[in-house]
Amino acid sequence: MFIGHFALGLAAKRATPRVSLGVLFAAAQLADLLWPFFLAVGLEQVRVDPGNTALTPLDFVSYPYSHSLLLLFAWGAVLAVFCSPFARGRRVVAVISGLVVSHWVLDFLTHRPDMPLYPGGPKLGLGLWNSIPATVAIEVPMFLAGLWIYTRVTHPRDAVGRWAFGALIVTLLLIYVANIFSPPPPSVPAIYLLTMIGGVLFVAWSAWADGHRDVV
Ligand SMILES: [Zn+2]
Repeated sequence: MFIGHFALGLAAKRATPRVSLGVLFAAAQLADLLWPFFLAVGLEQVRVDPGNTALTPLDFVSYPYSHSLLLLFAWGAVLAVFCSPFARGRRVVAVISGLVVSHWVLDFLTHRPDMPLYPGGPKLGLGLWNSIPATVAIEVPMFLAGLWIYTRVTHPRDAVGRWAFGALIVTLLLIYVANIFSPPPPSVPAIYLLTMIGGVLFVAWSAWADGHRDVV
């Protein structure tokens, strides 16, 4: 899943309005932020395999450290501890770690059975990605619902809060569409470099735009 993860990050702003959208996005996307680094050092493996599912040309051969349910509980705890000096409260800890674990649940819905429960454990997945219409029918309304919730909770304070946020949302949607129609990536390094750049970019961009919006 792609924009579905961002949908949950946007919606979580309602539960934890004082936490930056950058942190909420980082939590919902933590699995995909860690994944390219594990790929780069060879601890996890991916293969370019056009037609693997209708939605992705990637075969997620092995990603127990970034994408297993057990490790996502652990990463969720790590991120919550890391954030605790800046954002206190049990609810914040629960929302941040919940978002990290939600990544597994959403990927479980969309992926082939390649989502490990724990390193070396059984792999699960319902394969929503086998159908482009079904994926879009679930993910786009999720994203719009998250967007609706976020824009009810925050209002732009200035032009950055309005336009940088708007551009962020449009860019996410454009990437989503481009992902469906673009040719497969040329190589594994291209995959992890693009994922690293995209991950850092969207966390920084969302934190910046969110900082220019007031909670209402
Ligand atoms: Zn993922």
